[in-house]
Amino acid sequence: MSNTLIRGTAMGGKVRAFAATTKELVEQLHQRHNTLAVASAALGRTATMAAIMGAMMKGNEKLTLQIHGDGPIGKIVVDANAHGEVRGYVDHPEVEIPLKPSGKLDVSGAVGEGFIYVTKDLGMKEAYRGSTPIVSGEIAEDFTYYFATSEQTPSAVALGVLVDVDYSIRAAGGFIIQLLPGLSDEDIDTIEKQLAELRPITELLDRGLQPVDILKEILPDFVLMEESEIKYQCKCSRERVETTLISLGKEELQSIIQEDGQAEASCHFCNEAYHFTQVELERLQERM
Ligand code: ZN
Repeated sequence: MSNTLIRGTAMGGKVRAFAATTKELVEQLHQRHNTLAVASAALGRTATMAAIMGAMMKGNEKLTLQIHGDGPIGKIVVDANAHGEVRGYVDHPEVEIPLKPSGKLDVSGAVGEGFIYVTKDLGMKEAYRGSTPIVSGEIAEDFTYYFATSEQTPSAVALGVLVDVDYSIRAAGGFIIQLLPGLSDEDIDTIEKQLAELRPITELLDRGLQPVDILKEILPDFVLMEESEIKYQCKCSRERVETTLISLGKEELQSIIQEDGQAEASCHFCNEAYHFTQVELERLQERM
């Protein structure tokens, strides 16, 4: 089963909802960055949010989510676009901290306090930038707050990652339910009641529920409009690294050749390592 994302509406079009399963995506992030449990959860939740927000975009629009907390895992950065492509990293994937008294991973303790930043490249001259404080560090609450204050759209967000004993990803996914203008107080009460009764998202996913089943638990009249795929995809390439090396300038490249006799660059986003021998670096010099 690959990662799927669905979108649809309910309550006569006055509610729009997105839900996704992201187990494979988060497993890729875990394997690429060797994340331990709490970093898998924090990065995976952020990546799930990014995938969903990517689905709100169109054409070649893309976005970056950054969680800048002062906790031990450091920064979380995730890119996503309207084609369902997601990539990301966390500064300290190796961090381990004690579980919460409830036995759950302490994502908020790992993230700490700070700000979330949303950057949207809408193909215009200036990118859209939104920023709100981290209100809980559990990621879902932080984006609920972001949508309410920065985008003025009351939303319910759930994000979850279930990490197995061997650190593999057992389940991951999330949803967002957005209340559009014109919704009655009665309808809002109904949604809130359903949300309050809903089991944790990881439990529902682990039970094998599909995104559409989960949304129908909250919105019985949910109408599925679109289903798409989410995939882990990094845009780095050897050519791009070459361009970066060339941009260093002839002198800088010469000093790398003299001091190291080679160069190694790895991509932040996917950890792919690019190695250049002395001969290859000299060939780059010739192109400058
Ligand atoms: Zn990469």
